[in-house]
Amino acid sequence: MRLASDGRAIWPAAPGGPLAFPSVDGPLSVRVVYPQPGQVIGARDSTFILGSLGTGRASLTINGASVSVNPNGSFLAWLPFPPGPKPAYELVATRLPVDAGQSGGAGAQAGAQSGGGTAGTAATARMTLTVSRPAVPAPLPESGPLVVDRSTLVPAAGSRLRGDEPVQVGVRAPSNAKVTLRLADGSTRALSARGEAFRVDLPARLLARTARMVVSRNGESATISVPTVEVVDPDAPKFVVLKGSNAEVKGDTDAVTIVRPTPGGTYKWFLFPGTVLETTATRGAWTRVRLDDALEAWVETKDTEPSARTAPVRRVAVNGRVTPGAARWSDVRIPVGERPAFAVQESARALRLTLHGVISNIDIINFATNDPVIRDVTWAQVASDRVEINVHLRTDLYGYLALWDAGTFVLRVRRAPEVDPARPLAGRVIAVDAGHPPIGSTGPTGLYEGDAVLAVAEALRPMLEREGATVVMTRTAPGPVALGARPVAARRADADAFVSIHLNAHPDGVNPYRTNGSGTYYFHAHSADLARDVQRGLVKWMGLRDLGVNYDNLAVVRQTWVPAILCEGAFVILPDQEAALRTPEFQSRYAIGILEGLEDWFRSLAPVRAGR
Ligand SMILES: [Zn+2]
Repeated sequence: MRLASDGRAIWPAAPGGPLAFPSVDGPLSVRVVYPQPGQVIGARDSTFILGSLGTGRASLTINGASVSVNPNGSFLAWLPFPPGPKPAYELVATRLPVDAGQSGGAGAQAGAQSGGGTAGTAATARMTLTVSRPAVPAPLPESGPLVVDRSTLVPAAGSRLRGDEPVQVGVRAPSNAKVTLRLADGSTRALSARGEAFRVDLPARLLARTARMVVSRNGESATISVPTVEVVDPDAPKFVVLKGSNAEVKGDTDAVTIVRPTPGGTYKWFLFPGTVLETTATRGAWTRVRLDDALEAWVETKDTEPSARTAPVRRVAVNGRVTPGAARWSDVRIPVGERPAFAVQESARALRLTLHGVISNIDIINFATNDPVIRDVTWAQVASDRVEINVHLRTDLYGYLALWDAGTFVLRVRRAPEVDPARPLAGRVIAVDAGHPPIGSTGPTGLYEGDAVLAVAEALRPMLEREGATVVMTRTAPGPVALGARPVAARRADADAFVSIHLNAHPDGVNPYRTNGSGTYYFHAHSADLARDVQRGLVKWMGLRDLGVNYDNLAVVRQTWVPAILCEGAFVILPDQEAALRTPEFQSRYAIGILEGLEDWFRSLAPVRAGR
């Protein structure tokens, strides 16, 4: 490792620079990393195939198309999905005569990635790789005995909705059939067909009693019972208790229940386990809960349990207190009586805490004379059962935690550390998260993302320590670490920043040559500048295309206490980027990009505090 004059580990001396392939001339064999045999590929027309031949001195065709082979034997092809009822890729690799291949370096790493596969001295190696498209059900017969696909019957059993809410009743039947619904009151409804999909939308109350669906064709018919829908009785509300979604931290203050705007939708609310909410619907595996009179949302039914409650409680917010904590935080404490649904929205110097299902009767909020974090708290009753509490800060928001303390809602607000602009990392605690396993991507010559990012994390650690930081590694060995445990480790260490290190890949059907490079992800606004500074460092040091900074609802960057980002420094499926990622030099360039970004960001915190 080369050291700069100030003692910092710098490798290489200059940032950026082109990526170079090593020459590899091992035994010829065809190895495909992706797709795997029999893989279901969700692409419309073209998709990518990546792997290696063990030698750069070879040519390759896939289904007759010539594919370029890199000096290290890797290839990444972008080809049409194979035609026909049994789609397959035929790969034919041919060893080139010695004088036709790359000169120089060949043999130096011979056999480094060999082992298994076709015999090394062979002049030709082949592979047939069968793949498939997502299964489409075979058409139902239009003649002969009547066949109805009863597995497609909707609504699902166990649905519960308000009487006026629409319910889709439907089934898959032969396109030349007729489908009629006979309701319990004796009336009938015809189902309209689009191809084999028959459906009709009805208010839920019409399905409160058993209805029958009659499928008929040419005098033959089949009758199917439609599952009844339980209609919500407004005079007998039902309630559920939230149980928590993240099993690995049950019983801890990090435990939350994830609540979403739609069934299966994005994670939007993170509520305290133990919160009791009215349930207003069940659809499949999803339960709808009432956050307040004007807002409903969805939670996975498995994250709830029935409550014995039969009537709503009145939650009332009363006189509160702002108390400085032992270290870099202050608590806004608002007694509410019982856990409410809530949301926290942030802006640069304020936090807005929305308490749902709550009436505020706050007269007094007491502050310590010299609270270092919080300047003022105001509140507004914005709806009959919704309160907004606005917490105005003395400095830019650094992080926060929502906590429940025996009847009191606690918003713990964190302020920035004291930063020495000459040594911005001195005294900082940095959580370094080497992404994966489980899962993760693999490059054409078999470089696994989890291994490559661990090498980057291990390069970054001494760089940070040399600058005076304490490093918390969420993973130090090849084995798996649960996703949910990683931010918890950072919060427990009271880290000043969390950096997750990943490598990117594409989904099926995306041309990998068109979009690749470095990108950085954040979720909370208080982490956006950190993401920008680190992204600038990555682009400068890694020398790849700048794919920008993204707001993205990713598990490890959702944490609120520690500013958190996730880096996708390079694409491991791109042959040149994969080859570079195998070298300590490029691993260090990734690490230095992060190091510089962290330094820039912490340095930017210093003048704000000095000017206060
Ligand atoms: Zn990853």
